[in-house]
Amino acid sequence: MDDHDTISVHFYAFREYPMSRFWSQVVRDLTPYVPGEQPKIANLIKLNTNENPFPPSPKVLAGILAELGDDAARLRLYPDPNADLLKNAIAQQHGVTAKQVFVGNGSDEVLAHVFMALLKHDAPILFPDITYSFYPVYCGLYGVDHRTVPLAEDFSINPADYCGESYGQPGKMGRIGGIIFPNPNAPTGRLLALDAIEQILKANPDTPVVVDEAYVDFGGETAIKLVEHYDNVLVVHTLSKSRSLAGMRVGFAVGHPALIEALERVKNSFNSYPLDRLAIVGAVAAMEDQAYFEQCCRAVIATRDSLTAELHDIGFEVLPSAANFIFARHAQHDAAQLAKSLREKNIIVRHFKLPRIDQFLRITVGTEGECKALTDALRQITGSQG
Ligand SMILES: *Cc1c(COP(=O)(O)O)cnc(C)c1O
Repeated sequence: MDDHDTISVHFYAFREYPMSRFWSQVVRDLTPYVPGEQPKIANLIKLNTNENPFPPSPKVLAGILAELGDDAARLRLYPDPNADLLKNAIAQQHGVTAKQVFVGNGSDEVLAHVFMALLKHDAPILFPDITYSFYPVYCGLYGVDHRTVPLAEDFSINPADYCGESYGQPGKMGRIGGIIFPNPNAPTGRLLALDAIEQILKANPDTPVVVDEAYVDFGGETAIKLVEHYDNVLVVHTLSKSRSLAGMRVGFAVGHPALIEALERVKNSFNSYPLDRLAIVGAVAAMEDQAYFEQCCRAVIATRDSLTAELHDIGFEVLPSAANFIFARHAQHDAAQLAKSLREKNIIVRHFKLPRIDQFLRITVGTEGECKALTDALRQITGSQG
């Protein structure tokens, strides 16, 4: 059972169907991404995929019902291929123009187009050795060469590693095709300050730099404010985490109009209508309800801080997190074993069976009640007194 929640490069050795003679060479060579599981078990405390514990703004439902009307007749018609309503709502919220905004079916789709449109060049791209594990998958899908840059010992990104000739490997590397990293990073939760990002942008004026800000609303400062000064930065956001809409699949990117146009060209060569009618109006409502959004983020941050204190008390080392999850390890207890014991108590967290981080657990910040159930269970498992 636990294997399903453990990322392993060998996972796909156990695929359901063996290779078929009908498969293209591209498909033969793919190593697909393995998302955190979505078990169909009742009464589960689900802290494994960084979903928001709060429902979306009530205005989302109102918007969707209004779009549906009495007979859902509008579903007869294609949606706006450009989702202009949504681009305008995002532009307004972030103080940019709609021409600087691209929208897609979840930020994973936006990122996929980014690899094809902006990162595929005849030089390798750079990303951290420990990061969002979809990046190497897109490299495989689109044939993008890449090099990984080791995080520092404390799991932080060192901006100097992305500046200058060496790129972490003295004297080894010349030109690069692009740079991508999440900020805060996943799965560490560690934040890179905006001036460090600006340092990377300045050092790489002829290289696209993609900042994946899936978690920035939980304690970071967005690099969107750098877009007006740098034509090489693209900032990617999702409504899945801070706007509680993982089930609706909406993400966006903000950057110079020339970068956005590259994404539009790929999108319009792939799927003209990535966002359906309900997703467009729902996302607009979520973007416009800023008060509700801020209230949810504040609550998640407060719970993250109390959860971190509790975990320290239980004997965990917790990396400083600016995200809606924490990354923690226990000096005496093996991470895979802890994940297994928690699962037996119907609590699921994420464990990555990968070098450097196989003793960590990534735990999504749930409601206060869910986090209390988690720490109670961990106290039992580890024999730590409350
Ligand atoms: C969750 C996540 C995404 C994808 O979000 P979707 O919009 O749900 O596709 C992208 N990047 C990082 C780092 C994430 O953690």
